[in-house]
Amino acid sequence: MAKHRKVYRFRMRPNAEQGRALNRMAGARRFVWNWALARWKETYAATGKSISLKALSAELTSLKSKPETAWLSECDSQALQQVLDDLRRAFVNFFERRARYPRFKSRKRDQARFRIPQRVKVSDGKVYVPKVGWVRIRQSREVDGATKSATFRREADGHWYVSLTTEFEMPDVAVVAVDPAKTIGIDLGLIDFATTSDPAEKPVPAPKFYRKATAKIRRAQKAVSRRKLGSKRREKAKRRLALAHRKARDRRNDFLHKLSTDLVGRHEAICIEDLNVKGLARTKLAKSFADASMGEFARQLEYKCSWNLKVLVRVDRFFPSSKMCNRCGALNDRLSLSDREWECDCGAKHKRDFLAACNIRDEGLRLLAAGPARQVKRSGSRCKTRATELSASN
Ligand SMILES: [Zn+2]
Repeated sequence: MAKHRKVYRFRMRPNAEQGRALNRMAGARRFVWNWALARWKETYAATGKSISLKALSAELTSLKSKPETAWLSECDSQALQQVLDDLRRAFVNFFERRARYPRFKSRKRDQARFRIPQRVKVSDGKVYVPKVGWVRIRQSREVDGATKSATFRREADGHWYVSLTTEFEMPDVAVVAVDPAKTIGIDLGLIDFATTSDPAEKPVPAPKFYRKATAKIRRAQKAVSRRKLGSKRREKAKRRLALAHRKARDRRNDFLHKLSTDLVGRHEAICIEDLNVKGLARTKLAKSFADASMGEFARQLEYKCSWNLKVLVRVDRFFPSSKMCNRCGALNDRLSLSDREWECDCGAKHKRDFLAACNIRDEGLRLLAAGPARQVKRSGSRCKTRATELSASN
């Protein structure tokens, strides 16, 4: 059996008292982080060694019996212990050069949030937060699997959100040879969002609301930068910006979910380009929005393939998908970004995106035939296969 994880995110609707309790938890998290970081630095300065997690944990417990920090006992103790673990992880990331040196958290700069390992339950449109109680949520779907951890976050739009990570098991299956007829390649782009290697399928154009959404975000961004630093009106403009971001993200994800579910349902194996970012967008914002869409789309394809025991193959992004003739194998180096169609010296006529999708599929099939031997381990704890990402192996 292999373990799989799913993440759910819901907006919370705490009452006034629960809202205060959530803010208190976030304040306690910041306090414990800063206190522990200071203790870490003091210990290091005095002894040249890091303080152990065990020692910190014992000190934290004793803080609760001191009058000035007795308020900490009103907060969930496991959430507070979690902070120490988060700090330890931050140091590990720093020592392994993945992150900068941990910093003190300020009320202004840092988002209000905290994390609780296990014990968070969802039932009847409510989430149970230890020491806070049952808080109403906008539960858009059922939660399956056991809750591994829950993160609570107050976002810039002023609302609290809970992200639940659940874990469930699925039987391992041997990777079977996929049927090339049921394998597609997908080329992602800015004009046509997705073009598949199936000539019978029409390309899916990039949604029209993309431009509208980015225009709205840009306007909201300008409004924020016009307002005076630290002013109430700036805070308001910031909330509006966060709202515009969220709305755009929700609409985009909705579109992507429909498309990815449909594609995964109809095929056995899907080949896509790894980190597919190409073409020229009009502005930076439009580009980042499109990039985020492609990234999110690939992520959805990956987990949906994994849940449905299908195969997702990522083809190296340096693979010349749109300029390699799939009849004679020649490379067209004169191809510019604006060329939508081209004719090879061998006489083959190509539509750029469709050719790319076909080449991605062929390369994907070739990688699949080469087998999981091509798997390479990436740094970090997650074992990822670079060229072939097989649903059964992760
Ligand atoms: Zn050719």
